Amino acid sequence: MMRAKRTKFVFVTGGVVSSIGKGLAAASIGALMEARGLRVTHIKLDPYINVDPGTMSPYQHGEVYVTDDGAETDLDLGHYERYTHARLTRANNFTTGRIYDAVISKERRGEYLGATIQVIPHITDEIKARVMEVAAGVDVAIVEIGGTVGDIESLPFLEAVRQLRVELGHQNTVCVHVTLVPYIAAAVELKTKPTQHSVKELLALGIQPEILICRVDRELPQDLKRKIGHFTNVAVEAVIAATDVSCIYELPIMLHGEGLDQQIVERLNIWSREPDLTKWATTVDRMVNPKNGSVKVALVGKYVHLRDSYKSLHEALVHGGLSNDLKVELDYVDSEELLEVDDVASVLSKFDAILVPGGFGDRGLEGKVRAVRFARENKVPFFGICLGLQMAVVEFARHVCGISGASTVEAEPDTEYPVIHLMPGQRGIKDKGATMRLGAYPCELAEGSRASRIYGESSINERHRHRFEVNNDYRERLEKGGLALSGVSPDGLLVEMVELPNHPFFIGCQFHPEFKSRPHEPHPLFVEFIHSALKYSRTRPHESSEPTLSQSVN
Ligand code: GLN
Repeated sequence: MMRAKRTKFVFVTGGVVSSIGKGLAAASIGALMEARGLRVTHIKLDPYINVDPGTMSPYQHGEVYVTDDGAETDLDLGHYERYTHARLTRANNFTTGRIYDAVISKERRGEYLGATIQVIPHITDEIKARVMEVAAGVDVAIVEIGGTVGDIESLPFLEAVRQLRVELGHQNTVCVHVTLVPYIAAAVELKTKPTQHSVKELLALGIQPEILICRVDRELPQDLKRKIGHFTNVAVEAVIAATDVSCIYELPIMLHGEGLDQQIVERLNIWSREPDLTKWATTVDRMVNPKNGSVKVALVGKYVHLRDSYKSLHEALVHGGLSNDLKVELDYVDSEELLEVDDVASVLSKFDAILVPGGFGDRGLEGKVRAVRFARENKVPFFGICLGLQMAVVEFARHVCGISGASTVEAEPDTEYPVIHLMPGQRGIKDKGATMRLGAYPCELAEGSRASRIYGESSINERHRHRFEVNNDYRERLEKGGLALSGVSPDGLLVEMVELPNHPFFIGCQFHPEFKSRPHEPHPLFVEFIHSALKYSRTRPHESSEPTLSQSVN
């Protein structure tokens, strides 16, 4: 097999349970390698059968992260892009479904010349070839295997990892296994057995991890590290304790303190400098001690119970707060509940800003329209993203332009006033997977608009994921009513941004700016939105006892 020149591989597997931060651990490894001056890329292998997560409910799988090239990917790719400078594409995330799809298509074309197609070697070869292709040209490729060791689904991926480790040689690959060391209150003890068992599972598949990252909610004493090391054939200095951190951006610093990156580079025979983590330290310091206090932002959406559904958005708001030295207190407000109250002020008046994020389907739309109206009329900073822009346009058409029946075709297919309708290219499309307007597209900002001032440029490029758009037949009436269409596609046919000139901050965008915000390079729209929230917080009436319908997850 062709070996990507010089590339070293870090395979990241998970044990015991999911949701212990394997993705963040992989992202932190990327950050640490970059801080040592190395070029990295990230790959995520997902064992489920969906061809991509685009068709999966955010309830089940969290947000769908969109790359520049329009791939709908796992939310871990968002962590990777936020923690490193790696710019990822559809090649950086693939699922069992995609692998089988490719292998079966080749088989149908006769490319296997009569062979019997099997998991080993055909499926594993396909996995290995894709990993090698993406890894070419970088110093370190960090490959995360989704799921937990022991799942039936992940077996072909782990087998591919085992084979790659043999083929590439041990000085070129390292396996980092992320496990949980639970504290059992009844025994007043940390228990290492689950970790021992999960490493045994890996060993049974022919993979001996060299490094363990142990998630633990308190200090992991040296004797327990030694015990874990003995039972798992791992050197004690390679048993890394990952205790809870004050914010996720502290993770690279904490893992460095535990010697993780040193262990990786030593085992991979990489000569590199000590990592420079100044940026990370500054970020954490500003986050933990925000000089300007805090602002309260309402996120009016449908998936209010799972914070992973709006992962990137949550982070982008945090970044906006960071650059204003503010903590952003984010409350998720269920848009359906806004329909149940007589006066939305009873729910929304305690916030310094209101954000209506992206979403699909007709549930809760009217609640979002009510939230927009409240923000517009009371001059509360408002930011509408994708569906949020669409609801802002519906609201404006109804209550300012006097088109009281204005609606979106997504909710009312036969509406008489489709101010938001299907893009011509979307009509007649039946397949749901990968058929939206996806990925980065250019947009031209109107001279003198607030948007162009915020961006500091007139041509921007942002990532999209939608089927519907502003109906051009209504553009004139919207503009006459005072809504500025401040961003349009270069051919002028698609409205990409709207704003209200006589409002402290009322901006809607058809794209998702949250996908491009990073802790060290916060997105300007979020910076300005949070800045407006701060200004508004100084003037808004503060009541002592506030009724609440929302639930805080911060
Ligand atoms: N459902 C809307 C559309 O498809 C908005 C999508 C979104 O918010 N990402 O256009």
